[in-house]
Amino acid sequence: MARIPDSPQPDTHQPHGIVGLVLDVQIVMSKDHNPIDPILFAERADAIADAARDLAAFGWTPATSSNFSMRLNDDLAAITISGRDKGRLGRDDIMTVDMEGLPVGTEARPSAETALHTQIYRRYPNANAVLHTHSRTQSVASRLFAENGVVRLEGWELQKAIAGYTTHESVLDIPVFPNTQHMPELVAQVDAWIDSGKPLYAYLINGHGIYTWGRDMPETRRHLEALEFLLGCELDLRRLSP
Ligand SMILES: [Zn+2]
Repeated sequence: MARIPDSPQPDTHQPHGIVGLVLDVQIVMSKDHNPIDPILFAERADAIADAARDLAAFGWTPATSSNFSMRLNDDLAAITISGRDKGRLGRDDIMTVDMEGLPVGTEARPSAETALHTQIYRRYPNANAVLHTHSRTQSVASRLFAENGVVRLEGWELQKAIAGYTTHESVLDIPVFPNTQHMPELVAQVDAWIDSGKPLYAYLINGHGIYTWGRDMPETRRHLEALEFLLGCELDLRRLSP
């Protein structure tokens, strides 16, 4: 099975200067989206709500933080509406956005970090779900490893939970990007990592949380649970090492 990060796509949606920006806006406004399939939307919204309920129960989504999405088709994704309690999501708490992160068929406001979700769908055509959480372990690890810019995982059996990894004798680098409230800066940092040709399965944002993705919701949840465990192990090693 091909690994998701092996085939990142060039991001053709990044505006380059004013001319590019104007062209981009015209494309968005004139684009006809694939229609939203209500059955598919309901299915995806339920999968998001189910995952969110479990992750909230783990304590990984404090104070309405975190956001979750699933691809609907090449043009559209279902994503959590901003500010909702992630432990109590229903279909009404999920909305549709296009791949620029703009709302489609709704006045609702998507999560503030929607651009980071749609970026993954644009860059990785095999990615169909994105999970972003703010657990204590993720937050502390991001601060501890921010100076290195990366958490290097090696020698852990659970690295095999990440799609394409078959042995503990592998190296799994999770970059740590500086936090900012200006989403285009974060998008640019992620693009730069992907464009450098380095594999990307997940990333941390300093003092903030983690993003990871997969082919479907079960694979994405497996990635998130494995990474939470592995980051916890790295923190314990530092705590316990003389
Ligand atoms: Zn966040």
